[in-house]
Amino acid sequence: MSVQMSLNPFEIAQRQLDEAAKRLDLDPGVHELLRWPMREFHVRIPVRMDDGSVKVFPGYRVQYNWARGPCKGGIRFHPEETVDTVRALAAWMTWKTAVVDLPLGGGKGGVVCNPKELSARELERVSRGYIRALGHYLGPDVDVPAPDVYTNPQVMAWMLDEYERMVGRSAPGVITGKPLPLGGSAGRGDATARGGMYCVREAGKVLGIDLKGATAAIQGYGNAGQFAHTLGEELLGLKVVAVSDSQGGIYNPNGLSAKEVMAHKEKTGSVKGFPGAKAITNEELLELDVVVLFPAALENQITAANAGRIKARIVAELANGPTTPEADAVLFKNKVYVIPDFLCNAGGVTVSYFEQVQNAYNYYWDVAEVHERLDRKMTTAFHAVHTMAQEHKVHNRVGAYLVSVQRVAEAVRLRGWA
Ligand code: GLU
Repeated sequence: MSVQMSLNPFEIAQRQLDEAAKRLDLDPGVHELLRWPMREFHVRIPVRMDDGSVKVFPGYRVQYNWARGPCKGGIRFHPEETVDTVRALAAWMTWKTAVVDLPLGGGKGGVVCNPKELSARELERVSRGYIRALGHYLGPDVDVPAPDVYTNPQVMAWMLDEYERMVGRSAPGVITGKPLPLGGSAGRGDATARGGMYCVREAGKVLGIDLKGATAAIQGYGNAGQFAHTLGEELLGLKVVAVSDSQGGIYNPNGLSAKEVMAHKEKTGSVKGFPGAKAITNEELLELDVVVLFPAALENQITAANAGRIKARIVAELANGPTTPEADAVLFKNKVYVIPDFLCNAGGVTVSYFEQVQNAYNYYWDVAEVHERLDRKMTTAFHAVHTMAQEHKVHNRVGAYLVSVQRVAEAVRLRGWA
């Protein structure tokens, strides 16, 4: 820890913004407004457990900024959730919706709980309890949640149902990432990973790297990580040689089949123990000599402590906040091409936005249309960031901040807020 500055994600998010503000010579009033959430809610959610007892779970919703439109961002269920993590994630959502130029602001929510220790009924009560506590402050035109770490379409379905009971009418646009029969969008399931693949494809072009058969490693095997494995094979022809989850990782230099690893995880609950692969730790996975590294787990994985040992050519951040500012400087010096989180994983919120649009006019697109529109959004955003970074001779995260902060700041100014 001695070489580290703070690993508090919100302090990191503020420092990242400060750097962009300096380069943009941002008006001090606008800068101050963008450093903090505009509004946040702290709630206590009482939940009747299966054994008859009542447990009280802390919950948060941070509405970071709505200058460009309704707040937008997922809800995480995690035992180590903190309000500062939620604040950071809400700030990153603000930059994320701006970088892909969606007419939305940024928000995020969280409940401090461990879904792995809850029964399905208890999980449902936590989900409904969250909406009972916060539903009055959400809405299609106010703030629109979605899935994130350890929440999924079923959780979104319970939340939608609870919200509609509260308001007494159909309101599918209040939440995205819903199951298809409840107004979900085709293509939302793999959208985060798919958007990341489009970015990696474009990175391959600008760097002159042939990605067909190139090696890749994936840290994290949730929604983003699993689909990164399948789509990495399918769309780019990557050879995925290592994957991991919270319990540990596996490595096989000859490649790991997505289908087989997923079947193994389905059966055993982890990628660990996959036949024919060598066991490795999450830390070792990050340092493998691969062409593309996908951090797809949690924050603060690449830090000053290990950044110097990262050998990948491209780091495609499907997770939010996996790299600290100190690590960014090291990676930049070592010419590792980072596709920063709020660009690389923006495919999820982009298809969430498509979902809202379809809900609003109650007419649904086929999956090919979703993919085509997503590709256009991601490719445009990728090149805006890449060009900005090249022009300013900075790394892509600063480039992405310059693109996004300018857009949000302009909306703030036009509204006359600062
Ligand atoms: N939780 C996802 C993210 O961090 C998706 C957010 C959304 O779809 O609103 O981008």
